[in-house]
Amino acid sequence: METQETKSNFIREIIDADLSSGKFGGRVHTRFPPEPNGYLHIGHAKSICLNSGIARDYKGKFNLRFDDTNPSKEEQEYVDSIIEDVRWLGGDFEDRLFFASDYFPQMYDWAMALVKKGKAYVCDLSAEETRRHRGTPSEPGKDSPFRNRTVEENADLFERMRKGEFPDGSRVLRAKIDMAHPNLSMRDPVMYRILHASHHRQGDKWCVYPMYDWAHGLEDSLEQITHSICTLEFENHRPLYDWFLDALEIYHPRQLEFARLNLSNTVLSKRKLLELVRDNHVNGWDDPRMPTISGLRRRGYTPESIRAFCSEIGVAKFNSIVDIWVLENAIRNELNKTASRVMAVLRPLKVVIENYPQDQVEEMDLANNPENPAAGTRKVPFCREIYIETDDFKEVPPKKFFRMTPGQEVRLRATYIIRCETVVKDAAGNVTEVRCTYDPATRGGTAPDGRKVKGTIHWVSARHGFTAPVRLYDALFTKRAPEDVEEGRDFKENLNPGSLEVLNNAWCEPDLKKVSAGSRFQFERLGYFFADPKDSKPGAPVFNRTVTLKDTWAKIEQKGK
Ligand code: ATP
Ligand code: MG
Repeated sequence: METQETKSNFIREIIDADLSSGKFGGRVHTRFPPEPNGYLHIGHAKSICLNSGIARDYKGKFNLRFDDTNPSKEEQEYVDSIIEDVRWLGGDFEDRLFFASDYFPQMYDWAMALVKKGKAYVCDLSAEETRRHRGTPSEPGKDSPFRNRTVEENADLFERMRKGEFPDGSRVLRAKIDMAHPNLSMRDPVMYRILHASHHRQGDKWCVYPMYDWAHGLEDSLEQITHSICTLEFENHRPLYDWFLDALEIYHPRQLEFARLNLSNTVLSKRKLLELVRDNHVNGWDDPRMPTISGLRRRGYTPESIRAFCSEIGVAKFNSIVDIWVLENAIRNELNKTASRVMAVLRPLKVVIENYPQDQVEEMDLANNPENPAAGTRKVPFCREIYIETDDFKEVPPKKFFRMTPGQEVRLRATYIIRCETVVKDAAGNVTEVRCTYDPATRGGTAPDGRKVKGTIHWVSARHGFTAPVRLYDALFTKRAPEDVEEGRDFKENLNPGSLEVLNNAWCEPDLKKVSAGSRFQFERLGYFFADPKDSKPGAPVFNRTVTLKDTWAKIEQKGK
């Protein structure tokens, strides 16, 4: 089963096999189970696209479930942002929004059922002692001295744990499996710990909280999930996932693991992203430099481009790092087809066309999108004084410089051919203004005598345009794998000090004043830009550069070395 957005992968092959063998009665039901302890990032998008895409293509169901079993790090703000991000990406969970914490009573009953079967016990070892008893991959662990408590004693102690009779950390409930098991996660893992902490949804109802490995399979089982898709780190935990469900004799989903997404020049750990936010290395979770979904959205990415990226990278069983330019290409390809072209000058240099009539204004016709003639043309006012990009002028040109330089003709986009005659300089010798003449016979930009003019530059009327703040972004980290640091060093040392450049004087063509927040453009020759939805005001847009026109990574990778 394939759609345009999805390629076949090993997970789909397993589902196909399960469908033909009649496992799960022909149903397909997946879920995305975030812990609400941070904002979602592009790695989560991979999981959302995978899980919701499978549900869509197999006419199955997809749940959004908060794995909110750890009260100390979870917050309502994160819950809200996650719901927004999953919806925005197109993950269609309909009315199936669940919270693991709503299952706490059932989980507790099931834990008690295991106690009664003699398959779980209350252990009083300290965390440190438990760790020492655990053994290593090459050495078996040692049984806890509390392992052989009677069922009655265990049931009594576990109930009193729940009632709040014991302090944090004094006791845990453990599964009674095998302290010599070759898989460490099977060595009597902890199921419940005591924690007198308020939960963002349950308040102070609970002072025992379930551990991830115990809780996750139960959540999947309660929701009748068929394929519980998670990242490779959980492969070693699968025997435990299966053990709990078998021991309880309840509905048993199938866990499948895939390689998590790692993206170059950024970090995808919620803990590290939180650190960047807390220490003000970025301006919040939705800073356009962040690899969060909200950051990408504010940068100007569309849900379609993120889904295209997830489809492009595919799903595999081995870990690797995806280059960030693969992500940038996804939005660039889309915007190349859809974004209207406009003219803006980021670093303005004034040009006066001396032989152009003082008070004349001409409306020039500019194509809205050369890739799409149906997008039509627009009128852009032209007059005697314009701004061009500072970089498009060189008093002493390097070789093969076809833009503006004294004595050389250059074309103003779809307007006239002009020639630089003289320059005006300030006391320090900087060029502050360029004086030109134009050839009135070249309206539209072509010379009737067929003479060649190689360079074409963009421009904005100095009398009609307006200034807007523009933010240019570069990679957040200079190093390809910023987390690879020597002992004692910090990943934040690899932050790129030039990741944000704010230009306050960008000169924009007049129509841009009317744009609505959230619209996307190609600024000719400069890249794709997005009217920031938070900072733009009616009549006063603020633009974020989503991506440059061309891949600039070759250059940056060298810088990073
Ligand atoms: P942590 O567990 O450290 O808080 P996490 O990123 O695993 O971080 P979860 O909220 O548990 O956070 O993630 C929810 C789901 O997203 C999980 O099913 C996980 O497998 C998946 N996921 C997380 N990171 C990635 C990634 N980089 N690539 C693909 N899937 C991911
Ligand atoms: Mg996790």
